[in-house]
Amino acid sequence: MSDHTGPVYQARITIYPRSVKGRFRNIKYAILGVAYGVFFLLPWLRWTRATGPDQAVMFDLPERHFYLFDLVVYPQNIFWLAILLVIAALLLFFVTGVAGRVWCGYFCFQTLWTDIYLLIERLVQGERPARMRLREHGWTVARVLKLGSTHALWLAMAFWTGLTFTLYWADAPHLLSAFFEAKAPFAAYVTTFMLTATTYIFAGIAREQVCTYMCPYARFQSVMFDRDTLIVSYDRHRGEGERGRHKVTRDLKGQEARQQAGHGDCIDCGYCVQVCPTGIDIRNGLQVECIHCALCVDACNGIMRNLGWAEGLIRYTSERALAGGRTRFFKFKTVGYGIALMAATFLLVSSVATRAAFDASVQQTRQPLTVVLSDGRIQNSYAIVVNNTSTHRLSLHVGVRGLNGAHVEVQPSAVMDLLPEASRTVYVKLRYPARANDPKRIPFSFELTPEGRHAPAPLILPTQFYTR
Ligand code: SF4
Ligand code: SF4
Repeated sequence: MSDHTGPVYQARITIYPRSVKGRFRNIKYAILGVAYGVFFLLPWLRWTRATGPDQAVMFDLPERHFYLFDLVVYPQNIFWLAILLVIAALLLFFVTGVAGRVWCGYFCFQTLWTDIYLLIERLVQGERPARMRLREHGWTVARVLKLGSTHALWLAMAFWTGLTFTLYWADAPHLLSAFFEAKAPFAAYVTTFMLTATTYIFAGIAREQVCTYMCPYARFQSVMFDRDTLIVSYDRHRGEGERGRHKVTRDLKGQEARQQAGHGDCIDCGYCVQVCPTGIDIRNGLQVECIHCALCVDACNGIMRNLGWAEGLIRYTSERALAGGRTRFFKFKTVGYGIALMAATFLLVSSVATRAAFDASVQQTRQPLTVVLSDGRIQNSYAIVVNNTSTHRLSLHVGVRGLNGAHVEVQPSAVMDLLPEASRTVYVKLRYPARANDPKRIPFSFELTPEGRHAPAPLILPTQFYTR
């Protein structure tokens, strides 16, 4: 039996990431700018439509209409959402197989918001040493003021994020004024509060713990890696030499002297560790905490430039390349993901592009299924629901095909007018002089024919008539 009496869990060690300049930092700022621009400005973008709101992107839950510029998505288009999820999954598999955790390092909301929170922290409290000193010297007035301002700004940012998310679900200008006049729907306050709380906690308090302990992707992404996947790696061979890394000393300044003494190019400055947002040392190899943000690459490249040595001691590379081979990007797995991704994307795009101007469904009345009239004819009843999915007015004629001799009665009328994006139900009674040798079920179709010169094609709705 073990006599180990130490703590089961280690308390979190606070991380104070240092700022860094470089190519990957610039790429991350560019992505951050675009992502924030899109997220915060989109609800304010106006869009002219024949009917519906003049907001470019709006998810109108009560009306069950999702407006995406000129595209209006209805509940019956749920297939698009399913295929969109498939595309997202395939894209993640494909990108992870080729370039590792680029999603985590550059695009994930957790990374984007944590970046901004760190920026705020740095602006208010200073660079890494100043932030560490602030916590070492107890509760001074300066500490209270600086921490208070940081958290106030974090909360403001979280609230702005939560409110912006809420604005996507209604007309933004109206909802905003109603929100501050305490007249907005209760759900708007709940949504904003939930998003404010989660943004503040995840990006301000939990930070790297969300990636390390909460995110499932961090756990299963390693199974998508192979020897050709691009990962942020430390070139151990170059960095350590035969006798390991060594600081720059008077005798170990130049590369030649270091190589002769058996030391590599890593001068053990620790800059790569200090800039890491998850607080790990990439020199210890690939770790689950690494989000592949490449800030350590920027840090180390800066050091190498200052020393006048070649960059790339830490770099994007593959296990195979590190072992002296050539990275293979075209593999059975990635080609397979690529083909599946293209197929799913084509399916979605063609489905959206070829969507009919209207759709309809037919429901047969079951209680009773058949009625025998006094003149001996059999009557079946149907309800036809028609949705005008276009932004134009539609006029449709309801007819029957394949049930010769049937009398058709449509309520309220055999010609229906449909406003843009409107739905309508018509009720049809069919009276048919069934003969004794007729089958129990006779297949036939309703035919919905749009009227007008540039009318879309008729829609055929197959169904059946019960003779008994
Ligand atoms: S930044 Fe480069 S040189 Fe400095 S410790 Fe890290 S790997 Fe070594
Ligand atoms: S080790 Fe490098 S790439 Fe990985 S999270 Fe840290 S800074 Fe980013």
